[in-house]
Amino acid sequence: MSGSEHFDADSAAGAGYRIDPLSGAPAWMVPARQDRPNLPAEKCPFCVGGIEAPGEYEVLAFPNRWPPFDDGRAEIVLYTSQHESSFADLSPDQARRVVDLWAERSAALGARDDVSYVLVFENRGPEVGATIAHPHGQIYAFDIVPPVVVNEYASAQSTAFSVPSSEVVVATHGEWSAWVPFAASWPYELVLAPATDLPDLPSLNDAERSDLASLLIDCIGRLDALFDSPMPFMMWFHQRPFDDIERTPLRVHAHIAPLLRSPGTQRFVAAGELGSGVWFNPVEPTTAAAQLRDRK
Ligand SMILES: [Zn+2]
Ligand SMILES: [Zn+2]
Repeated sequence: MSGSEHFDADSAAGAGYRIDPLSGAPAWMVPARQDRPNLPAEKCPFCVGGIEAPGEYEVLAFPNRWPPFDDGRAEIVLYTSQHESSFADLSPDQARRVVDLWAERSAALGARDDVSYVLVFENRGPEVGATIAHPHGQIYAFDIVPPVVVNEYASAQSTAFSVPSSEVVVATHGEWSAWVPFAASWPYELVLAPATDLPDLPSLNDAERSDLASLLIDCIGRLDALFDSPMPFMMWFHQRPFDDIERTPLRVHAHIAPLLRSPGTQRFVAAGELGSGVWFNPVEPTTAAAQLRDRK
């Protein structure tokens, strides 16, 4: 695609990131987060009447009380007021409200002069450090374009979002499909993308938002059914940077990285992977896709 852009370590350093002199990787120091509570002392802060959600709500976004970034550039997004729920349990209408809120917050944060990238994500389950069980995700609004995003723009082949072989497709809802990537890094990893080149969440039209909502309910439900227990996972959306640099468009998409490789067995990313940058995936993508297609 665009091919020439590299992560801009100089501007990242200028913005306060530390750049590792050996790897060139940026790091942001957040010592204040050491003081954040592991578990809420009493009542869930996200339930109606809790400290973050005093009134009734359907969905809610608000600044993270323990932000890694200053100036309101980190937000919490509540998917539902129901504590004992998950994305997979939402009704299509409720999931659609979440998609609309992601799009609205992406546009609002992306419009700020001090924001170049809006990362919408969720860590689900204590295995990935989600300290509050209430269904929620987060948003980080970066003042740089992070290296993973720059690398996708530089590396994405024109076939990256071509309709993949039906062997790896897990589900399709209207304009959106989910499949296990050919070179999946994680067992049961999924990529979700629309059928056309839309750059960001705010660009999705009415039908595309509803399709994404129902596909997410479907996929997360399948992951939960896979080993008959809630699947811990990390999910993040990649969308266009909100800076002024012209790039060949890259399609908006979501990544879901489930943590388990078999019932109760966590897949660890360890020295072999971190030391080499090569992923060793114990589950063949066509096998993973067939298992997920069979589940529901
Ligand atoms: Zn709650
Ligand atoms: Zn991506």
